[in-house]
Amino acid sequence: MQYELTCECGWQTNGDEDKVVRDAQQHGRDIHGVEPNREQVLAMARPTSQQ
Ligand SMILES: [Zn+2]
Repeated sequence: MQYELTCECGWQTNGDEDKVVRDAQQHGRDIHGVEPNREQVLAMARPTSQQ
């Protein structure tokens, strides 16, 4: 399953579940000072039709 995620600040990422979670956690830590957990990341991510 592929996902895409747009942060409230406009930052975007996409890829498989593990990559999106990893990218979003790093982005949150670096930019917002908060590291979201896996459930929070996936709640914000949108599945895409790409395999
Ligand atoms: Zn952001």
